[in-house]
Amino acid sequence: MSGSALYDTFARAPLAFERGEGSWLITEDGQRYLDFAGGIAVNSLGHGHPKLVAALTEQAGKLWHTSNLYEIPGQSRLGERLAEATFADKVFFTNSGAEALECAIKTARRYQYVNGHPEKFHIITFEGAFHGRTLATIAAGGQQKYLEGFGPKVEGFDQVPFGDIAALEKAITPETAALLIEPLQGEGGIREVPVAFLKRLRELCDQHGLLLIFDEVQSGVGRTGKFFAHEWANVTPDIMAIAKGIGGGFPVGACLATAEAAAGMTAGVHGTTFGGNPLAMAVGNAVLDVVLEDGFLAEVQRKALLMKQGLAAVADEFPDVIEGVRGSGLMLGLKCKMPNTKVNAALRDQKLLAVPAGDNVIRLLPPLTVSDEEIRDALERIRSAAKGLSETSA
Ligand SMILES: *Cc1c(COP(=O)(O)O)cnc(C)c1O
Repeated sequence: MSGSALYDTFARAPLAFERGEGSWLITEDGQRYLDFAGGIAVNSLGHGHPKLVAALTEQAGKLWHTSNLYEIPGQSRLGERLAEATFADKVFFTNSGAEALECAIKTARRYQYVNGHPEKFHIITFEGAFHGRTLATIAAGGQQKYLEGFGPKVEGFDQVPFGDIAALEKAITPETAALLIEPLQGEGGIREVPVAFLKRLRELCDQHGLLLIFDEVQSGVGRTGKFFAHEWANVTPDIMAIAKGIGGGFPVGACLATAEAAAGMTAGVHGTTFGGNPLAMAVGNAVLDVVLEDGFLAEVQRKALLMKQGLAAVADEFPDVIEGVRGSGLMLGLKCKMPNTKVNAALRDQKLLAVPAGDNVIRLLPPLTVSDEEIRDALERIRSAAKGLSETSA
């Protein structure tokens, strides 16, 4: 038994931080870590961004919470701005990514139901997916290690191999309601879905009367250098779940949908107590003020290139440690040749924070506001870590 009063669900690093400044996290005894984990793609604008701090503290002095029994002006505004900047017409706010996915799943099933197809409730997902830790989202993710011991898997989720069109076509039945996919897999190991595959998903949905759901909880809100990753492929979904980066560290998620897809979500069929509360909305609006500013995403793309080229050079130099570099924008992965946990520990010894992912990958998720100098600093730390590991393994 552990000495902690907390659930033992997390294997935490023996590190605690007291403060954050931009791309840096600082321990109580003043040690500075370069944060390329970003709270797992959450701290999109780094730590303590003055505009986010101002928005939150100003709202905190006025009003925290009223519930969705009343109008919430900040919520209407953020909803309109998200609709304006995307394919969507309608938005439902949540507190987390998994809740945004729950709303996406319910929206798709209700769409089929109100269109006279209650039998269409199955959702097809893809191997390596991660959609959250609620009962429905572990069923959607389909990973045995997350399902085990939690009773019968929620019905209606069918999984097919990643990138396998033939298997997908075979899996579509008269009971299928929707396809659900991350355009760029995060937890699965920074695996990009080929553009042609995404385009084919859209065609199949149109052909069979299915809804296309994108999970952009990790890849969204500027992370890949576009507002949303699917914009790179020019394929639009009917429903999309977002979270992580939209709150910049404040818990916010949202489900976005076209008016048609959301047609079944009428008064009383879904709800939330905290979702879209004034504090969350103040921060979300402030994040958009920055991310949607002219030139911001172009800068993300420019910095991403700098980082990807630097990483490729390190991989070339130490192929016995890093096999390759993958990903898009500032959502990058190092495919490791040795156990990724070992690489992650070596990076932490260099005071660089990263996140392990599936497929033996290390994720690098710096704030979108990271400077060129910080990128060069990080590359130097990654090089030092790789050098140390390369010599050890030689
Ligand atoms: C993190 C994540 C989720 C779950 O979000 P939570 O806020 O942890 O519930 C779902 N989908 C993807 C792609 C994620 O990266």
